[in-house]
Amino acid sequence: MVKCNKCSKEAVVKLHYNKTDLCGNCFCDQFENRVKNANKEFKLIELNQKIAVGISGGKDSAAMLYILHKIVEKVHGTTLQPILIDEGILGYRNEAIKKAQALCEKLGLELKVFSYRDGFKLTMDEIMDLKKANPKAGFERSCTYCGVFRKTLLNKAALEMKADTLAIGHNLDDIAQTFLMNMFHNEPERLKRFDVINDEVEGFVPRIKPLIYNPEKEVALYCELKRLPYFRGECPYSNESFRGEIKNFLNNLEQKFPGVKFNLLRAYLSMRGELQKAVEFDKMFPNNGKKKGNNGKNGNKQELENSQKIAEMIVNAGSFSIAKQKDADLQTTGKPTSTITKCKNCGQNSSTQLCKACSFVIEIGRKKMETEGQNRAIGGKQKKSIKKFD
Ligand code: SF4
Ligand code: ZN
Repeated sequence: MVKCNKCSKEAVVKLHYNKTDLCGNCFCDQFENRVKNANKEFKLIELNQKIAVGISGGKDSAAMLYILHKIVEKVHGTTLQPILIDEGILGYRNEAIKKAQALCEKLGLELKVFSYRDGFKLTMDEIMDLKKANPKAGFERSCTYCGVFRKTLLNKAALEMKADTLAIGHNLDDIAQTFLMNMFHNEPERLKRFDVINDEVEGFVPRIKPLIYNPEKEVALYCELKRLPYFRGECPYSNESFRGEIKNFLNNLEQKFPGVKFNLLRAYLSMRGELQKAVEFDKMFPNNGKKKGNNGKNGNKQELENSQKIAEMIVNAGSFSIAKQKDADLQTTGKPTSTITKCKNCGQNSSTQLCKACSFVIEIGRKKMETEGQNRAIGGKQKKSIKKFD
């Protein structure tokens, strides 16, 4: 019998990265202590806060909600509000919602569900059907759309319920993957904005990530040992993602060189101070001291005119009915006062005239019309050729 290194009971898990064997109880204590340590180190939870907790029905958010529930019991005036985003993926998210509901009931919390259908008048299944029907239309990968829509809707929901923070169940693996993806995509700007607490963007509810010190494999074990209800299935569109490739790559590396995921997190945390200074610098000098040339005053005006035309075209066509909460300042002057402005279509904060979610909705709408046009043309040709034989 392999003994637990902490209490000498029978071990249930071997952690290769720090060469320890642990029994179920000691493992769960260590798992929870890591969340508590992240909370203390980054001051994630404070007194009298309303914390929106983004849950999916999966293991990460189940473990996060369960532990946060334990923590906030001892934090005066702080409450949790679980929220779930339904992307509209049949056989996947609808099943996961049942598990999320079961967990919320167990904890005595009320779950609020927000859907892409209500928020954007579309579902991921519809987008993927369109992509299948018209593979040459240049659709993005599923997760590119889905990630943007989810982030937008979560923020909108958290703002609506006046939450102080939004807790996200990103574990150590997710953080290590995002860090590497930003490197591989050569996206230093994203790397600057990516933080354990993304509190630098005004109008966005600060996001906290209490599971940054918890490896994904351990999250699953914790849920099993605690018998938490969670959905084990995988999204049918996940094989399209670049993240999936990075995930496999990192898992192979971790197997050969235990500890690389923690090392990546440490590398990020040691750079974090410098990255935050860079963000502060950008806030003080939005143009980074550079002359803007065509992207300057005229560029902004042109961009504004273009986005107005597009927004009007879409609204006139009646294809989409995203609520327009126009920002009066921007309407009259057309000049954003900082790098953050309001989306011309939905009113959410954005660094461009149309936020990424609205741009995607418009792009998908255009591709949908193209596809329907092509189908009509094919239908017409078929009718003509049938007539020949009449
Ligand atoms: Fe959305 Fe991609 Fe996640 Fe599926 S795997 S739910 S498409 S982000
Ligand atoms: Zn928008």
